[in-house]
Order: sequence, then C-alpha cells, then structure tokens
Amino acid sequence: MKARPWHGGELRWNAESEDWTVLAPGRRSRPHSAAGATCPFCPGPAEDTPPETWRLAGGETGWRVRAVPNRYALSDRHEIVIESPRHDWDLATGTDREAADVLGAWQHRHRALRPSAAQVVVFRNHGHAAGISLAHPHSQVAGLPVLSAATRRELDTARAHHAGHGRRLADELLEAALSDGKRIVFADDDVVAYAPFAPIAAYEVRIVPRTARPDFATAPAGEVHAAARCLRAVSAALRAELDDPAYNIVVRTAPAGYETAPFLAWSLQLVPRLEIPAGLELATGVPVTTVTPEHAAGRLRTVLGTHASGRRGPAGPGSAR
Ligand SMILES: [Zn+2]
Repeated sequence: MKARPWHGGELRWNAESEDWTVLAPGRRSRPHSAAGATCPFCPGPAEDTPPETWRLAGGETGWRVRAVPNRYALSDRHEIVIESPRHDWDLATGTDREAADVLGAWQHRHRALRPSAAQVVVFRNHGHAAGISLAHPHSQVAGLPVLSAATRRELDTARAHHAGHGRRLADELLEAALSDGKRIVFADDDVVAYAPFAPIAAYEVRIVPRTARPDFATAPAGEVHAAARCLRAVSAALRAELDDPAYNIVVRTAPAGYETAPFLAWSLQLVPRLEIPAGLELATGVPVTTVTPEHAAGRLRTVLGTHASGRRGPAGPGSAR
C-alpha cells in the first residue's frame, strides 16, 4: 500500500482510481462562521492570523489584499488570500479594480509557492455548499507535492490533441463556443466567458483569454485585469440569477515544468453548487445536470444585458468574433 506522510496527515494512493486521497484530520478543528466582531480575518482587536507573507498596501487599514499561511493547511505551502478588509465584501458586488487586485494576489502567491511544488492550485470557495468554513471573503493557494489523476489525464489529452491536430484543444473548444454562439455568456476583445458544451454542473462557466497562454502566474497584467472584470461580471450575474449560489472558482493552469507547454491554456472555471451528486455520479463518475449550457448562458446573457450599464455588453449569438 503506497502512502506518504504529508503535513500532519497522509497521502494515500488509491490503486483502483490511480489517484491520491488526502487524509487531513487536523482540518476538523477549523473554526466555523465567526461573526464579524470575532472574525480572525477582519482588521481590529479580534484579528488572529499567522504572520502575513504578502500584502497589497493601501486603504485605511494599510492593506487591500493580504496573504497569510493557512493555519489548517493541507500542505506546508498553503496560504489564505484575504481578499478585502471588509467582512461583507464579495466578488459579485465589488469593483473591477478590487477583483483585479485579488487575481493579482493569486498570481503573486502562485509564483511564490511554485518552487518545490508539483502543482499549485488556486481556488475560491463561496457559500457553505461549496465548502467554506469562515465567511470573510478569501481564497486559497496551495502547492501540492503530487499531480492528481485528473491533472495527469488532462495533460495527456491536451498533449495528444496538439500532436495530432497541430493546435490546442482549448482553442478548438473556444472556437466552437464562439461559432455556436448560444453558449456565450460574455465576450470582449480580451476574454470570452462561455458555458462548456458538456458541463460538469449546472451553470458552469469558463473564462478564457482570447490569446491562449499556458501559465496563469506569469500572464500579463492587462490580460489578468480583463479576466478579473469578466469574472466579477459573471459572478454578479450568477448572484442575480440564482440568488447568491454557493460556488467554487478554480484557476486551471500549467503544473510545474509545463509553464511554456504549447498545448496548454490557462482559464478560470466557475462551478455553482446547486445539485448534490448522487448514485449515478458515484457509480460512473459521470456528472448529471438538469440545466443545459445553452439555457444557462441565455439566462446569464439576459442578466448581464440588464445589469451591464456602462460596460461593454455581452455578445449575443452571432455577434462574437
Ligand atoms: Zn471578517
């Protein structure tokens, strides 16, 4: 039986799925849902975090975004990005600049945690159904010592597709979404948000730069700002359409050693948690969703059209490049 100690817990190898399981008993003692007055992430007397590793200075509190080691870490390189001094801040209701600050922090901490990690994961959980324990707006960056089965499979698929077709799979998926039009959620000169042809959950959205690039951590600021504006707008649309749903956001990007791989492209994946996986998913690994991506994208376009005052409008069918 293959296993390795890992930061107070253990990584065990599942020989059937050829994937790792993380045993992290220490995370059971995580605090839950502190109120504003006792929130360890709010500036003030109750503030209680390990010494910060990074901050974006500014504002009344001296910082706009800060990073601290995760006290209930999954690995020895696991940080919390505290996205705002404001306990009630949210991606969906914040400004484009604040969203860009958060993505800039993700890039910075990704680069900082990358040495010695096989893969750095960046994710944002929102709502209890998505796994949050503390309500203060935050995201997480973790360096993992192994590649998951899903990551290995995606690398193999992307590499084989590029070798066979001479182009990125990600470029073909984006082109298909653009020529179809019905799955486009938002598009401007820099980024496109679309609902995948075969989503893993209702209202899943991918945000993809028009210029494919393997590595999120070193993407140019203009591209990251465009992705942040789009992510903020899509978050606001989901909040309006689905009454502030729980969701996970993950940054999909090259693992260590693949930062210049010509077959990869970074993107953001936004997955609302509206449905509970049941027996069929467990038996087969096949996601089941009751909402078509065409319907989901149409609803989100409508909301963005209504609420997008002063912004570049969403691309309807046929109007996308
Ligand atoms: Zn707080």
